[in-house]
Amino acid sequence: MIGIDLGTTNSAVGVIEAGFPIVLADTENRRLLPSAVSFSGDETIVGHEAKDPITSVKSLIGRSEVPESYHGAPTKTENGQIYVQSGEKWLTPVEVSAEILKTLKSTAEMRLGTPQTEAVISVPAYFNDRQRTETKEAATLAGLTVRRLVAEPTAAALAYGLERASERTKIAVYDLGGGTFDISILEMREGNFEVLATAGDTELGGDDFDTILAEKLNCTIPEAIAAKYAFDDADEVQGLTADEYEKACWQLLDRSRRCCERAIIDAGVAKTDLEKIILVGGSTKMPLVQRHVESVFEQSPDLCMNPDEAVVLGAGIQAGLLSGSIQTLSLLDVTPLSLGIETFGGLMNILIPRNSTIPCKKGEMFTNAVDGQTSMKINILQGEREFAKDNWSLGELEVPFTPAAKGQARVGIQFSLDEDGILSVLARDTATNEDLLLTIERSTVDITNTAVEKMIDESVDHAFEDMDGRIFTEAKIKADELLPALDEALALCGDSLDHETRSSINAAKSDVIAALEANDGKVLKSAVARLDDATEELASLVMQSLLG
Ligand code: ADP
Ligand code: MG
Repeated sequence: MIGIDLGTTNSAVGVIEAGFPIVLADTENRRLLPSAVSFSGDETIVGHEAKDPITSVKSLIGRSEVPESYHGAPTKTENGQIYVQSGEKWLTPVEVSAEILKTLKSTAEMRLGTPQTEAVISVPAYFNDRQRTETKEAATLAGLTVRRLVAEPTAAALAYGLERASERTKIAVYDLGGGTFDISILEMREGNFEVLATAGDTELGGDDFDTILAEKLNCTIPEAIAAKYAFDDADEVQGLTADEYEKACWQLLDRSRRCCERAIIDAGVAKTDLEKIILVGGSTKMPLVQRHVESVFEQSPDLCMNPDEAVVLGAGIQAGLLSGSIQTLSLLDVTPLSLGIETFGGLMNILIPRNSTIPCKKGEMFTNAVDGQTSMKINILQGEREFAKDNWSLGELEVPFTPAAKGQARVGIQFSLDEDGILSVLARDTATNEDLLLTIERSTVDITNTAVEKMIDESVDHAFEDMDGRIFTEAKIKADELLPALDEALALCGDSLDHETRSSINAAKSDVIAALEANDGKVLKSAVARLDDATEELASLVMQSLLG
């Protein structure tokens, strides 16, 4: 299933590949397809090569009257049906949109090598029923079944990875495209984004900046567009300073400001409530727009995402969720497998369990297993199996410490996982407060689905034997401690015990030894517990004699 951003100016198609959303490029490696279609004779040309094309057909879809702002192509209206002209042909907005969708469909099929018949398509949050229905009709004509229409700001929020945002997070999505401007305030509720308010201006977009530059520089529109792009990383273009350019655009920016203020009021939020300002649409690449957004919202917008691709990536993510190619968005923002270290008996000790959201931190205290030990080897593990040897070793850290009696040296281990899944392991000798730090270069979340599935399947397949193994190992560690200690205690105070206690201790002891030989975890565990109980009196006698 594919995700489509069917834009007024540009469109694109995306998909989830190996757990990651990607935009699919055409044969010329172009990721954006101009929403432009020309018909001449039997030939239909969509996109870059279209000549005198029909453009901005999105602003006609689902309408019965041509908006005044429409300058795309000649139009006529008959019985409430709009037609646009290309060459000799008159076409409905649905038919024109279908051509754009067909082109995106075939780009996806070319890249993916399989037929694509289902899609998620993004639409503006304010699209009414008729606009939505006609968008679906266009898809049907293109041979696509629409599995869901997703609101553009919601798609953008998904692409920004905001599904991991805490409950009750509020954000603003500022979308300035070629000819339209939309501002949406969203709130995350129970894992879904709800649009609290939208506002916008269907006659405000990148085109208006082109017109202003053409006037200022006294040049053609294509030249003005080139100048506009040049301002992305220049303070002066053809003698016009960025400052002067910005001043010339003040009316446009003022219209944007008023929409934003209205949306904030309608949503009933304060600017300080907004966790993030997301930028969408090609025109937000203009530094002057970014400064404007910062001044309106009194915080800097998030610039981590290509604003051209946020919507299509979000539509692709939604498609991945619906088709089951990703279960939750979690693949991108939670640990796919548990992280831990090897402890006594070769067991896996989990510090960060599978599916923990990242970034996160987790610490635990470990002690030495042997008297006088001078260092501890920390084997860092990833996986779901009970035994260290069955998990993946990510690295090792040798922590030196001051020699101490068994269980006396204490080493604190802290795992921190950053947003990218990079794991840092910090080990601290609590006696000296000396730290050792190891960073695992390979991302711990960047693992193929197949590897994750294999690990989990194996852990399920081996669950019983692994569990028995763990129970045995843990009980054996205890038995290995208990048996020599028991012999010492008996030598010290055994004579003070009555006959009955002595024989129950002996019985429990031989049960433990038998279970150790039989290699049976459950039997050993209960035998160890019985021995523990039976030696209660002995232990307190030993304590008394030690305390003198
Ligand atoms: P839509 O959502 O309306 O389909 P887009 O988001 O694709 O539109 O935005 C297209 C607009 O973005 C055009 O006006 C284009 O000139 C402008 N644009 C794209 N890239 C840049 C850039 N790097 N600098 C300035 N403007 C840009
Ligand atoms: Mg757009």
